[in-house]
Amino acid sequence: MSIQIIQSDITTLSVGAIVNAANSSLLGGGGVDGAIHRAAGPELVKECATIGGCPTGEARITGGYRLPAKRVIHTVGPVWQGGNHKEPELLASCYRNSLRLAEENGITSIAFPNISTGVYGYPKDKAAEVAIGTVADVLPSCKVVQDVYFVCFDAENFALYRRLLQEKQ
Ligand code: ADP
Repeated sequence: MSIQIIQSDITTLSVGAIVNAANSSLLGGGGVDGAIHRAAGPELVKECATIGGCPTGEARITGGYRLPAKRVIHTVGPVWQGGNHKEPELLASCYRNSLRLAEENGITSIAFPNISTGVYGYPKDKAAEVAIGTVADVLPSCKVVQDVYFVCFDAENFALYRRLLQEKQ
């Protein structure tokens, strides 16, 4: 069982599943969502269209198509509205529900982006605490998932995650 922090483009990773920070339509968007759809090819949006959307805090699973990752777990992070609109609970649910789906689908390795910290405006330090706190809490009870990667796109998140994880260990 391990938690690793890497600085990378999530679409390049050969893991059991990469997590997409999707919007509730699941029909694609900007940021990491756009990058995942571009790399997976048009079959991904076709499958997503059959799902019928996803509420904030929940997660849905699809194939990975042309990605090196076998599956994509789409989760919808909260839009930051100042912190008093259940944002921490909803963000924690994204990580918890993604891990649950991975468990149910026999996925041993999973890579998370920094959900909600782009266009959705969640403060990076606060989001990192929720992400690491929730995964560190849930992972010991996972029977299938062994390896979790936090994939930081920017140097600021990479430094933040490394510091927070060190503090936990
Ligand atoms: P949200 O709408 O949940 O805020 P964004 O895609 O705007 O989603 O941003 C979420 C995080 O994903 C940001 O930290 C952003 O830097 C990062 N990101 C963007 N593109 C990629 C990528 N190709 N791989 C990994 N992370 C990415």
